[in-house]
Amino acid sequence: MKTLYLYNTLNRKKEEFRPINTSPQPSPSKGGGVVGLYTCGPTVYNYAHIGNMRAYIFADLLARTLRYNYGEARVKWVMNITDVDDKTIRDSKIKYPNIDPNEALKKFTAEYEKYFWEDMEKLNIKKPDVIPHAADQKYVEKMQDLINKIVKAGYGYIKDGSVYFDVAKYYKNYKYGKLINLDMDGFKAGVRIDADEYEKENVQDFVLWKNQEKGDPFWDYELDGKSLPGRPGWHIECSAMGQETLGMPFDIHTGGIDLKFPHHENEIAQSVIGYNVDQPVNYWLHNEYLLVDGVKMSKRYKNFYTLRDLEEKGFNPFAFRYLCMQTHYGKQMNFTFNSLKAAEDGLKHLKNQVRELGDEKGDINSDYKNNFFKAINDDLNLSKALAVTQEMLKSDLLGQDKLATVLDFDKVLGLKLNQVDEDIELPEDIKSLVAQRVEARVGNNYNESDRLRAEIEKRGYLIDDTKDGMRVVKK
Ligand SMILES: [Zn+2]
Repeated sequence: MKTLYLYNTLNRKKEEFRPINTSPQPSPSKGGGVVGLYTCGPTVYNYAHIGNMRAYIFADLLARTLRYNYGEARVKWVMNITDVDDKTIRDSKIKYPNIDPNEALKKFTAEYEKYFWEDMEKLNIKKPDVIPHAADQKYVEKMQDLINKIVKAGYGYIKDGSVYFDVAKYYKNYKYGKLINLDMDGFKAGVRIDADEYEKENVQDFVLWKNQEKGDPFWDYELDGKSLPGRPGWHIECSAMGQETLGMPFDIHTGGIDLKFPHHENEIAQSVIGYNVDQPVNYWLHNEYLLVDGVKMSKRYKNFYTLRDLEEKGFNPFAFRYLCMQTHYGKQMNFTFNSLKAAEDGLKHLKNQVRELGDEKGDINSDYKNNFFKAINDDLNLSKALAVTQEMLKSDLLGQDKLATVLDFDKVLGLKLNQVDEDIELPEDIKSLVAQRVEARVGNNYNESDRLRAEIEKRGYLIDDTKDGMRVVKK
């Protein structure tokens, strides 16, 4: 077994990964252990942006790396869907003001969840093994069970129809701020925060169960003989779904760096008290921000992109996946359209190299496999893994062996390296103009070729003459 190292936010260092279940049984069905991986999934109130996508590509690469190490069936990957929170409720009421709020929420979130999975598929992110939905009655009941336990243990209290977590009491007995350093000096006892998201300067008692506001969706709940119609807070969702799907403690929890606080810090506090575990999760992994042209993405700066925006500009989603692999997940990634274009060209080149190897598979080369293993097992050093891939392709190995080896690597890379890209579907008039231009160029008729280029541009498409041929993209 190779050693896998991961950067653990809990201890702020790279550590050897030791799974909880080290049973030597060959498969989970025979009682062997699985590695448990939990990823905070999307809040389905909008299209996911490319910064979110970076987080899911990272989680997918981690899941693939774990499977490469422990075997396909030895990893259980859970990703939840947040289909009830402040934002989903707010926007579902705007979109469907005249139907039952619970129904409106369901209808509204189902739409965006559908788009989410479409994007995931385009990026070749494998579907997680379990996908719990926060608004499912089954899970809401688990959240209520957990809140009951927290209140019973003396760390939760009811106030104005809502239930809150007593942070001051927790802080007295446990460490609050395991993932980030929290300054508790500004903490005001008796002040509560109802919002799902807040800044660390506002550390206060946070909401476990939120009292129903007029016109909001709600679930029935009874606590201490009091009827508390309302809905779960965002943080309790992940604690309860993590316990229900993986049990506690479990191995690895991932999420974007913005989730460290308050979301993950609160998850830890809730689980420590409610499930009575010292350490609910052994390894916390966080990916850094994605910047666009050096600044944080925001609708205000008009630098906010979804995968659909990239596709509309004529880019293949795989180019974005490939681009994400060039920057370590723990570092900020600066997205520019130039870098995306370079990634697309690089990927095209890589696929051409693979295509030239033919169809016949030989043997996986163990030396290169070892080097590839070392790279991915060094906290997912994908850029190194890609360099090993290049080195192998340029080596004097037999073509058949190169093919077998590169396709083995592709189990982790997930680039579908042996699939030929289909050209983007162009409208008939553009296709015809492009064909005329190819003819003009073959006949060295450059004036005509330039005229056709201008005509194609006028109709909204750009022509790019590259060394691998011509590329037509939407403007
Ligand atoms: Zn979460």
